[in-house]
Amino acid sequence: MKMKSRYFIWMCIALAALAAGCSETISDPEPKAQRVIVIGIDGMSPDGIAASPTPIMDFIMENGAYTLTARGVLPTSSSPNWKSMISGSDTEHHGVTSNKWEKDKFILPAATTGMEDIYPTIFGVLREQRPDAKIAAIYDWKGFGRLLEQSALDYDSYKATGKEKLDEDETAQLAIDYILSEKPDFLFVHLDHVDHAGHQHGHGSSHYNESVTKADTLIGNILQAAKDAVIYDETLFIISADHGGVGTGHGGETLDEIEIPFMLLGPGVKKGHTIDHQVMTYDNAATVAFALGVEPPYAWIGRPVKSAFE
Ligand SMILES: [Zn+2]
Repeated sequence: MKMKSRYFIWMCIALAALAAGCSETISDPEPKAQRVIVIGIDGMSPDGIAASPTPIMDFIMENGAYTLTARGVLPTSSSPNWKSMISGSDTEHHGVTSNKWEKDKFILPAATTGMEDIYPTIFGVLREQRPDAKIAAIYDWKGFGRLLEQSALDYDSYKATGKEKLDEDETAQLAIDYILSEKPDFLFVHLDHVDHAGHQHGHGSSHYNESVTKADTLIGNILQAAKDAVIYDETLFIISADHGGVGTGHGGETLDEIEIPFMLLGPGVKKGHTIDHQVMTYDNAATVAFALGVEPPYAWIGRPVKSAFE
């Protein structure tokens, strides 16, 4: 009897040690990059990139990994897609099913909640696992800010400026200033002017294509700021969009509306590599988590685009 219980105790210790070893490899993945900067261009379709001069994005594709047939989620509206991009999940998980969604006004409750009682995004997840990380959301469309855990941020473009409205130039400049002064661990930049051009003049119009070229220039300025701050070589850049468009709108179920670019550039990223498998917008947050060595929440369905890395 005594021998048996001693054997049992040793078995328990051995199993516990094995379990601890296993969980360590799962929860402590090797970071790929020291920092991540995601630049999301509202309404920028792959067609728009193909039809417009975009020397910076051409450079990113030539020196990084990309797909121009990544997909957003339905409906192809802004709030559901930005939320999916930052939360590694689809609409039926996070419940942001339309632009009418507010923290206290929704139809479908989130399947699970985290910080601030909202569906967990990369901002909150990173803050929980890396309390000292410098995290910023610098966005042009004010509505973006309600989709994430505000208390996870060190810097929020609307809180910091106190403005009611920002434009793409001001937003990009805020991002540049922040990169230079703070060297963020995770920065999300959102620019809205391409979507405005789509709604005003039509997707595929000359005004729309000019707005894509302007986005390209602003992306270049942000990359240059990272070079000036001497963080370029340790930063993973991800360029994407929430949706495309048809005519002067979006929200429907066509490829023109749902297909988005997804580009990566940075340490460990393959050069000139076309990603040959499906990428969904919710893979974005999972890829950020993977790159920073952060464990995604159980609820997320997004998968890191590991094939983009060496
Ligand atoms: Zn949008």
